[in-house]
Amino acid sequence: MGQLFEALKQDILYEHGMNACLNCGVCTAVCPAAEFYEYSPREVMNTVQSEDDELIEALLKSDQIWYCGQCFSCKTRCPRGNSAASVILALRRLSVRLGYFAESEKGRQQLIAKRVFGQNMLDRGYTLLAKNITPEHFPELGENWEYYYEHMAEMREWWGVPMDLENSPGSHRQIPTADLDELRAIYEKTGAIALMDAVEAGMEKKLGNKSEVEKYWQTWLETGDSRDYPLPEAD
Ligand code: SF4
Ligand code: SF4
Repeated sequence: MGQLFEALKQDILYEHGMNACLNCGVCTAVCPAAEFYEYSPREVMNTVQSEDDELIEALLKSDQIWYCGQCFSCKTRCPRGNSAASVILALRRLSVRLGYFAESEKGRQQLIAKRVFGQNMLDRGYTLLAKNITPEHFPELGENWEYYYEHMAEMREWWGVPMDLENSPGSHRQIPTADLDELRAIYEKTGAIALMDAVEAGMEKKLGNKSEVEKYWQTWLETGDSRDYPLPEAD
């Protein structure tokens, strides 16, 4: 039993999610992500259960652990009461802590999650703002959204829920400062801030320096596709 497996076992999500896997494949049969990607929660569980650090390290550096959509369908059907979804969350946490996430294209998208959803949580108290849904990134939302996006402030005045109104319904409400402070304290205490910092540090290590990280971020802002950023050549 290696150090990575030991570290994984310390995570309460692992403890809740793994009782001993039969390798039956029911989780993969019901998994919506398995239908669209080269991905199998059964394989993830089997790798973890091997307790083999080499295999676990490869998993932590792979796209595999980022395909799961956390729908928990696997948990409801597993004959052993396992939750592949929870084990995958524990793997993601370890991958970020160790900087391994930056080795995979899907993993590197954690920077976007951190800078959009994570930062919104810290600044606003919730994950998504309408202003994040830019028409350039989401053309499928059509011209109605485009109109709303451009006239958000006046439309919300008209609806009686102005932008940034304290405790108003819907997105763009303002959460009172005392509540935000409390939320940030919870994030600090539970290690969420440390994980966010680990995302920045892991990206910097992988891409070479802070300015490359900013280039990666800008590429995503401009094109909506992080794959457009060319990875620096490995030494
Ligand atoms: S359904 Fe449960 S026992 Fe079967 S492979 Fe998936 S995690 Fe293992
Ligand atoms: S939680 Fe993840 S692994 Fe489980 S069924 Fe949903 S997408 Fe698949």
